[in-house]
Amino acid sequence: SHPQIELKEITFNYHEDDKKALDNVSLSINPGEWVALIGHNGSGKSTLAKTINGLIRPTAGEILINGEKLTEENLWDMRKMIGMVFQNPDNQFVGSTVEDDVAFGLENQGIPREEMLVRVKDALERVRMSEFTLREPSMLSGGQKQRVAIAGVVALRPDVIILDEATSMLDPEGRAEVIQTIKKIKDESNLTVISITHDIDEAAFANRVLVMNSGQLVAQGTPEEIFSGNRELVEQGLDIPFPEKLKAALEDREIEVPQEYLTEERL
Ligand code: ADP
Repeated sequence: SHPQIELKEITFNYHEDDKKALDNVSLSINPGEWVALIGHNGSGKSTLAKTINGLIRPTAGEILINGEKLTEENLWDMRKMIGMVFQNPDNQFVGSTVEDDVAFGLENQGIPREEMLVRVKDALERVRMSEFTLREPSMLSGGQKQRVAIAGVVALRPDVIILDEATSMLDPEGRAEVIQTIKKIKDESNLTVISITHDIDEAAFANRVLVMNSGQLVAQGTPEEIFSGNRELVEQGLDIPFPEKLKAALEDREIEVPQEYLTEERL
């Protein structure tokens, strides 16, 4: 069987003279994976997400979705498979009530009213926002707003959800809320999650962490491998030195932390 998403030697620059925002990136993602995308600002994470989602057409290379090459012709069908949640919860609302807001994307897709109501109800249950159906989105907390944004995406029944720093403007409580929501939805379905994040607690939920630097994919591995003082990353100035925090995050996930990560010199 094919990977769900496959990028083959993708290169992209926004303008001809610019340095490459993506420089020969190849990767595959399988259905049901949770992949975290980390790296410094400007390393190409958002550009990569937009490429996967078809918002950006690469300058070179190809993208395959379920083994099928992404083209101008199938772009819109493919895009329906992938939902995105963005950073700023306040920029994502179009409806005057929570319910209307979640319905908006379905209306756009011409989903019949009866099915729309079922899907809105289901999506709001999944994000545990059923009590808030008639609330004004602007009156919600940051975490609740992002949960509504997630419901709007979930209602469209995508195979893949991309969180583009979707928790970065939230307080710790809101962040945990959003991550737990995603985890729950993922546990109930075979949703693939791609999360762009600076938050180690969020990245620790991933099965695989991808590290971007200067438009290139420079490392990938389990959270344990990536966050444990990986020498290659340290040499690139990309060490992420918080094993103490990682340990807590992994324990939260009930992952056994290898003893070597807990030595004095690391902590
Ligand atoms: P990240 O998400 O890791 O912060 P981006 O993908 O946003 O990185 O940016 C990668 C590179 O592309 C950076 O050099 C950035 O300045 C450039 N870039 C991003 N968006 C645009 C744009 N709309 N026009 C021109 N250059 C851009």
